[in-house]
Amino acid sequence: MADRKPLISGNWKMNLNHFEATATLDKLRYLLSKDDYEVVDVSVHPPFTDIRTVQTFLESEKVPIAVGAQNCHWEASGAYTGEIAPGMLFKLNVSFVIVGHSERRELFGDDDIVVAQKVKAVFENGMTPILCCGETLEEREGEATRGKVTGQIQAGIEALKPEQVASMVLAYEPIWAIGTGRTASAEDAQQVCAWIRAKVKDMKGADAAKAVRIQYGGSVKAGNAAELMSQPDIDGALVGGAALDPEEFARIVQFRLS
Ligand code: PEP
Repeated sequence: MADRKPLISGNWKMNLNHFEATATLDKLRYLLSKDDYEVVDVSVHPPFTDIRTVQTFLESEKVPIAVGAQNCHWEASGAYTGEIAPGMLFKLNVSFVIVGHSERRELFGDDDIVVAQKVKAVFENGMTPILCCGETLEEREGEATRGKVTGQIQAGIEALKPEQVASMVLAYEPIWAIGTGRTASAEDAQQVCAWIRAKVKDMKGADAAKAVRIQYGGSVKAGNAAELMSQPDIDGALVGGAALDPEEFARIVQFRLS
Protein backbone atom coordinates (compact mmCIF):
# COMPACT_ATOMS: atom_id res chain seq x y z
CA MET A 1 0.00 0.00 0.00
CA ALA A 2 1.21 3.51 -0.76
CA ASP A 3 2.71 5.51 2.05
CA ARG A 4 0.36 8.47 2.22
CA LYS A 5 0.27 10.40 5.48
CA PRO A 6 -3.36 11.15 6.37
CA LEU A 7 -4.43 14.80 6.38
CA ILE A 8 -7.24 15.81 8.74
CA SER A 9 -8.57 19.28 7.91
CA GLY A 10 -11.02 21.31 9.96
CA ASN A 11 -13.25 23.52 7.83
CA TRP A 12 -14.65 26.07 10.26
CA LYS A 13 -16.88 27.65 7.57
CA MET A 14 -18.40 30.97 8.76
CA ASN A 15 -17.93 30.15 12.45
CA LEU A 16 -15.62 31.33 15.27
CA ASN A 17 -14.40 34.93 15.43
CA HIS A 18 -10.70 35.52 16.08
CA PHE A 19 -11.10 35.41 19.88
CA GLU A 20 -12.98 32.11 19.65
CA ALA A 21 -10.39 30.82 17.20
CA THR A 22 -7.60 31.39 19.72
CA ALA A 23 -9.60 29.70 22.51
CA THR A 24 -10.31 26.70 20.25
CA LEU A 25 -6.68 26.28 19.23
CA ASP A 26 -5.50 26.76 22.80
CA LYS A 27 -7.60 23.72 23.80
CA LEU A 28 -6.50 21.73 20.76
CA ARG A 29 -2.81 22.23 21.46
CA TYR A 30 -3.15 20.46 24.81
CA LEU A 31 -5.21 17.65 23.33
CA LEU A 32 -2.77 16.77 20.54
CA SER A 33 0.83 15.70 20.94
CA LYS A 34 4.01 15.21 18.96
CA ASP A 35 3.04 11.54 18.49
CA ASP A 36 -0.16 12.62 16.72
CA TYR A 37 1.59 15.03 14.35
CA GLU A 38 4.14 12.38 13.45
CA VAL A 39 1.49 10.17 11.90
CA VAL A 40 -1.22 12.64 10.84
CA ASP A 41 -1.02 16.05 9.18
CA VAL A 42 -3.55 18.54 10.54
CA SER A 43 -4.86 21.78 9.06
CA VAL A 44 -7.46 24.29 10.19
CA HIS A 45 -9.39 26.52 7.80
CA PRO A 46 -10.77 29.52 9.67
CA PRO A 47 -12.67 32.48 8.20
CA PHE A 48 -10.36 35.01 6.50
CA THR A 49 -10.66 37.47 9.39
CA ASP A 50 -9.11 34.92 11.78
CA ILE A 51 -6.17 33.83 9.67
CA ARG A 52 -3.58 36.33 10.93
CA THR A 53 -4.50 35.54 14.54
CA VAL A 54 -4.42 31.79 13.91
CA GLN A 55 -1.05 32.05 12.14
CA THR A 56 0.47 34.10 14.97
CA PHE A 57 -0.88 31.76 17.65
CA LEU A 58 0.29 28.54 15.98
CA GLU A 59 3.73 29.95 15.19
CA SER A 60 4.35 31.50 18.60
CA GLU A 61 3.17 28.37 20.43
CA LYS A 62 5.04 26.12 17.97
CA VAL A 63 1.96 24.03 17.20
CA PRO A 64 2.52 22.05 13.97
CA ILE A 65 -1.01 22.57 12.64
CA ALA A 66 -1.06 23.99 9.11
CA VAL A 67 -3.02 27.14 8.41
CA GLY A 68 -5.62 26.72 5.69
CA ALA A 69 -8.14 28.89 3.87
CA GLN A 70 -11.64 28.02 2.66
CA ASN A 71 -11.48 29.77 -0.70
CA CYS A 72 -9.62 32.42 -2.69
CA HIS A 73 -9.87 34.37 -5.93
CA TRP A 74 -7.77 33.33 -8.92
CA GLU A 75 -6.41 36.77 -9.85
CA ALA A 76 -3.34 38.29 -8.18
CA SER A 77 -5.01 41.66 -7.49
CA GLY A 78 -7.53 44.04 -8.95
CA ALA A 79 -11.07 45.36 -8.81
CA TYR A 80 -12.75 42.34 -7.19
CA THR A 81 -14.65 43.80 -4.27
CA GLY A 82 -14.86 41.46 -1.32
CA GLU A 83 -12.39 38.90 -2.67
CA ILE A 84 -9.04 37.65 -1.35
CA ALA A 85 -6.04 37.00 -3.61
CA PRO A 86 -4.02 33.78 -3.24
CA GLY A 87 -0.80 35.76 -2.76
CA MET A 88 -2.35 37.44 0.30
CA LEU A 89 -2.94 34.02 1.83
CA PHE A 90 0.58 32.86 1.06
CA LYS A 91 1.92 35.91 2.96
CA LEU A 92 0.05 34.61 6.02
CA ASN A 93 1.80 31.23 5.70
CA VAL A 94 -1.35 29.53 4.49
CA SER A 95 -0.45 26.04 3.23
CA PHE A 96 -3.77 24.57 2.05
CA VAL A 97 -6.71 26.22 0.27
CA ILE A 98 -10.05 24.45 -0.08
CA VAL A 99 -11.31 24.90 -3.65
CA GLY A 100 -14.69 23.94 -5.04
CA HIS A 101 -16.42 23.11 -1.76
CA SER A 102 -20.03 22.21 -2.55
CA GLU A 103 -21.25 25.26 -0.61
CA ARG A 104 -19.14 27.48 -2.90
CA ARG A 105 -20.39 25.62 -5.96
CA GLU A 106 -24.06 25.71 -4.92
CA LEU A 107 -24.35 29.09 -3.22
CA PHE A 108 -21.69 31.23 -4.91
CA GLY A 109 -21.59 29.95 -8.47
CA ASP A 110 -18.14 28.36 -8.45
CA ASP A 111 -18.43 26.15 -11.53
CA ASP A 112 -15.80 23.75 -12.87
CA ILE A 113 -14.12 26.52 -14.91
CA VAL A 114 -13.78 28.83 -11.91
CA VAL A 115 -12.65 25.93 -9.73
CA ALA A 116 -9.90 24.99 -12.22
CA GLN A 117 -8.70 28.62 -12.31
CA LYS A 118 -8.54 28.68 -8.52
CA VAL A 119 -6.65 25.37 -8.32
CA LYS A 120 -4.06 26.75 -10.76
CA ALA A 121 -3.76 30.04 -8.85
CA VAL A 122 -3.26 28.24 -5.54
CA PHE A 123 -0.35 26.29 -7.03
CA GLU A 124 1.12 29.38 -8.67
CA ASN A 125 1.20 31.02 -5.27
CA GLY A 126 3.07 28.25 -3.52
CA MET A 127 0.15 26.60 -1.70
CA THR A 128 -1.64 23.25 -1.99
CA PRO A 129 -5.24 23.03 -3.17
CA ILE A 130 -7.78 20.73 -1.55
CA LEU A 131 -10.08 20.15 -4.52
CA CYS A 132 -13.58 19.07 -3.50
CA CYS A 133 -16.05 16.97 -5.44
CA GLY A 134 -19.30 15.24 -4.59
CA GLU A 135 -22.74 14.24 -5.76
CA THR A 136 -26.24 15.24 -4.68
CA LEU A 137 -28.70 12.70 -3.30
CA GLU A 138 -30.59 12.68 -6.63
CA GLU A 139 -27.38 11.95 -8.48
CA ARG A 140 -26.53 9.12 -6.08
CA GLU A 141 -30.00 7.62 -6.41
CA GLY A 142 -29.79 7.98 -10.19
CA GLU A 143 -26.45 6.12 -10.23
CA ALA A 144 -24.73 9.23 -11.54
CA THR A 145 -22.16 9.46 -8.74
CA ARG A 146 -19.17 8.18 -10.70
CA GLY A 147 -19.75 10.47 -13.69
CA LYS A 148 -20.35 13.56 -11.53
CA VAL A 149 -17.39 13.08 -9.26
CA THR A 150 -14.84 12.05 -11.87
CA GLY A 151 -16.06 14.87 -14.13
CA GLN A 152 -15.38 17.43 -11.40
CA ILE A 153 -11.94 15.93 -10.78
CA GLN A 154 -11.16 15.89 -14.51
CA ALA A 155 -12.03 19.58 -14.87
CA GLY A 156 -10.01 20.50 -11.78
CA ILE A 157 -6.78 18.68 -12.67
CA GLU A 158 -6.82 18.77 -16.49
CA ALA A 159 -4.32 21.65 -16.82
CA LEU A 160 -1.96 20.40 -14.10
CA LYS A 161 1.32 18.53 -14.39
CA PRO A 162 1.41 15.00 -12.93
CA GLU A 163 3.82 16.18 -10.17
CA GLN A 164 1.34 18.86 -9.14
CA VAL A 165 -1.48 16.35 -8.95
CA ALA A 166 0.73 14.04 -6.90
CA SER A 167 1.24 16.79 -4.33
CA MET A 168 -2.35 18.00 -4.03
CA VAL A 169 -5.32 16.85 -2.01
CA LEU A 170 -8.68 15.73 -3.38
CA ALA A 171 -11.73 15.62 -1.12
CA TYR A 172 -14.73 13.43 -1.80
CA GLU A 173 -17.70 15.02 -0.08
CA PRO A 174 -21.15 13.64 -0.93
CA ILE A 175 -23.39 16.70 -0.67
CA TRP A 176 -26.15 14.75 1.07
CA ALA A 177 -23.72 13.91 3.88
CA ILE A 178 -22.46 17.44 4.58
CA GLY A 179 -23.82 18.87 7.81
CA THR A 180 -26.70 16.37 7.83
CA GLY A 181 -25.41 13.77 10.25
CA ARG A 182 -25.66 11.20 7.43
CA THR A 183 -22.33 9.64 6.53
CA ALA A 184 -21.54 7.54 3.50
CA SER A 185 -20.81 3.99 4.57
CA ALA A 186 -17.10 3.28 4.67
CA GLU A 187 -17.56 0.89 1.72
CA ASP A 188 -19.40 3.49 -0.39
CA ALA A 189 -16.86 6.19 0.43
CA GLN A 190 -14.02 3.80 -0.43
CA GLN A 191 -15.67 2.90 -3.74
CA VAL A 192 -15.91 6.53 -4.83
CA CYS A 193 -12.36 7.34 -3.67
CA ALA A 194 -11.13 4.34 -5.69
CA TRP A 195 -12.95 5.72 -8.77
CA ILE A 196 -11.27 9.08 -8.19
CA ARG A 197 -7.83 7.47 -7.92
CA ALA A 198 -8.49 5.47 -11.11
CA LYS A 199 -9.41 8.72 -12.88
CA VAL A 200 -6.18 10.34 -11.73
CA LYS A 201 -4.25 7.30 -13.00
CA ASP A 202 -5.95 7.50 -16.42
CA MET A 203 -5.23 11.20 -16.75
CA LYS A 204 -1.90 11.73 -14.99
CA GLY A 205 -0.30 8.31 -14.58
CA ALA A 206 0.32 5.75 -11.86
CA ASP A 207 2.80 7.81 -9.82
CA ALA A 208 0.37 10.71 -9.43
CA ALA A 209 -2.46 8.32 -8.56
CA LYS A 210 -0.36 6.56 -5.97
CA ALA A 211 0.77 9.78 -4.29
CA VAL A 212 -2.34 11.99 -4.33
CA ARG A 213 -4.15 12.19 -0.99
CA ILE A 214 -7.91 11.71 -1.06
CA GLN A 215 -9.94 12.89 1.92
CA TYR A 216 -13.49 11.90 2.75
CA GLY A 217 -15.84 14.59 4.08
CA GLY A 218 -19.44 14.50 5.24
CA SER A 219 -20.45 14.27 8.91
CA VAL A 220 -17.14 12.78 10.00
CA LYS A 221 -17.07 12.36 13.78
CA ALA A 222 -14.86 10.65 16.33
CA GLY A 223 -17.21 7.64 16.21
CA ASN A 224 -16.88 6.96 12.47
CA ALA A 225 -13.39 8.31 11.66
CA ALA A 226 -11.42 5.10 12.32
CA GLU A 227 -13.57 2.98 10.01
CA LEU A 228 -13.48 5.55 7.21
CA MET A 229 -9.75 6.04 7.57
CA SER A 230 -9.05 2.30 7.46
CA GLN A 231 -10.17 2.20 3.82
CA PRO A 232 -7.26 1.82 1.38
CA ASP A 233 -8.11 4.86 -0.77
CA ILE A 234 -9.12 7.26 2.02
CA ASP A 235 -6.20 9.35 3.25
CA GLY A 236 -7.79 11.68 5.73
CA ALA A 237 -10.89 13.72 6.36
CA LEU A 238 -12.34 17.14 5.66
CA VAL A 239 -14.33 17.90 8.80
CA GLY A 240 -16.97 20.62 9.16
CA GLY A 241 -19.21 20.70 12.23
CA ALA A 242 -17.08 18.41 14.38
CA ALA A 243 -14.02 20.62 13.82
CA LEU A 244 -15.61 23.39 15.93
CA ASP A 245 -15.36 21.22 19.04
CA PRO A 246 -11.67 20.81 19.94
CA GLU A 247 -12.23 17.59 21.90
CA GLU A 248 -14.17 15.94 19.07
CA PHE A 249 -11.69 17.18 16.46
CA ALA A 250 -8.74 15.89 18.50
CA ARG A 251 -10.40 12.46 18.74
CA ILE A 252 -10.82 12.43 14.95
CA VAL A 253 -7.12 13.27 14.53
CA GLN A 254 -6.39 10.40 16.95
CA PHE A 255 -8.59 7.96 15.01
CA ARG A 256 -5.84 5.33 15.14
CA LEU A 257 -6.26 5.10 18.93
CA SER A 258 -9.96 4.19 18.85
C1 PEP B 1 -17.53 20.18 5.14
O1 PEP B 1 -17.89 21.30 5.37
O2 PEP B 1 -16.62 20.02 4.32
C2 PEP B 1 -18.13 19.06 5.86
C3 PEP B 1 -17.80 17.85 5.53
O3 PEP B 1 -19.03 19.36 6.86
P1 PEP B 1 -19.62 18.35 7.97
O4 PEP B 1 -18.44 17.60 8.55
O5 PEP B 1 -20.29 19.23 8.98
O6 PEP B 1 -20.57 17.42 7.28
